[in-house]
Amino acid sequence: MRRRSALQLLAAGAAAAVLSPATSARASTANDSGRRKLRIAIVGLGGYARYATERLLAARRAELAGFVTGDAAKGRDFAGRFDRPQAPVYSYEDFDRLAADERIDAVHLCLPVGLHAEYAERALVAGKHVLCEKPLAATSAEARRVTALARERSRLLMPAYRAWYSGALQAALGRVRGGEWGRLVAIDAHKGFPMALPAGDWRFDPALAGGGALFDIGPYSVQLTRWAAGSLPARVRAIRRSDPGDPRFARVESHLAWLMEFPDGAIATGSASWRYHLQNHARFGLERAWLRLEPATPGIGERLFVGAGDPARVEELLLPIQDQLPRMYDDFAEAALTGGTPQVSAEEGIADLVVLEALARAAAEDSTVEVQGVTG
Ligand code: NDP
Repeated sequence: MRRRSALQLLAAGAAAAVLSPATSARASTANDSGRRKLRIAIVGLGGYARYATERLLAARRAELAGFVTGDAAKGRDFAGRFDRPQAPVYSYEDFDRLAADERIDAVHLCLPVGLHAEYAERALVAGKHVLCEKPLAATSAEARRVTALARERSRLLMPAYRAWYSGALQAALGRVRGGEWGRLVAIDAHKGFPMALPAGDWRFDPALAGGGALFDIGPYSVQLTRWAAGSLPARVRAIRRSDPGDPRFARVESHLAWLMEFPDGAIATGSASWRYHLQNHARFGLERAWLRLEPATPGIGERLFVGAGDPARVEELLLPIQDQLPRMYDDFAEAALTGGTPQVSAEEGIADLVVLEALARAAAEDSTVEVQGVTG
């Protein structure tokens, strides 16, 4: 395939490339002048919040409107750093007072995983829309509870799955699901890095983290695998490892590898790791071609390679670089402001937790685990 024709095909097939759970793609490039923006408060001002807040400033339909933190001085520092000196700064104790604050429409929860469900519930009760970091909760039961509450309160709950807003990832999914090169036979997805955080960090406490490397870094590969396969796996197996000499990994795994079987026969392998040197890639084996995303799910800068026909020929599809976070914020904002449907539903968050839990159980029991549905 020639590069030019690949790009033309991508342009022509952009709509087809968007798979379930998407509704129609909403371009961030729409002319939004004169339309109200969704005012978002960032909750939990840690490492990721710093990155996300900066990217929120590039959104067209959403704007930075406040902060929630356990450290008031850090809140003021964020307000100054991101040019919002008048923005309100709440503490966790004051969180429920958000209900009376008409300057804030929504929250982006950047808290430890074990706190996601509690603060999502409190935000929904306060009448706010919720964008929640991955995974949606520490358990699928919590995620179902929060999803039901959002429905009851007519508020939007959306997992902050930024990778969905990657054009390269959508191009890969479109080609994998499009049938041009036959059926999907195999998926192999790996993501990890050497964990540098010190003992005492919440990521090593199962109550705050939900799990170890699997819950921290696994969701990216798990969701990519699900999206490519187009369904939940029917059954999974897994092996986990920890480092006996490292106190950080006494209660959570540092590496987990999996095998998943999908209802249509596709088989997936992959891993989530805090041990190996930087890896972030996914391979899709079709009957007449392979595709490789590498890197697969960084915040920006994915690359898509294709091998089809001549075995010696590898083509890189040159795709426009897209910044995922502003696109994600805009989709969330558009849906919240109009009562519409975002591209990533809360059920997506439940689906990942169902798979993460099945993998954790398969590893703990050294058995094959049947995967239950999203409705539980
Ligand atoms: P950090 O530890 O850097 O930040 C978490 C923040 O949460 C803290 O700084 C603190 O903010 C607040 N907090 C409230 N209660 C606690 C508590 N009991 N223990 C520790 N912190 C607490 O974590 P990250 O920013 O890396 O991760 C936050 C969330 O973002 C997680 O859900 C993670 O999975 C997700 N994430 C998503 C990424 C993505 O690409 N989508 C990438 C990295 C993380 P304060 O002092 O303001 O109260």
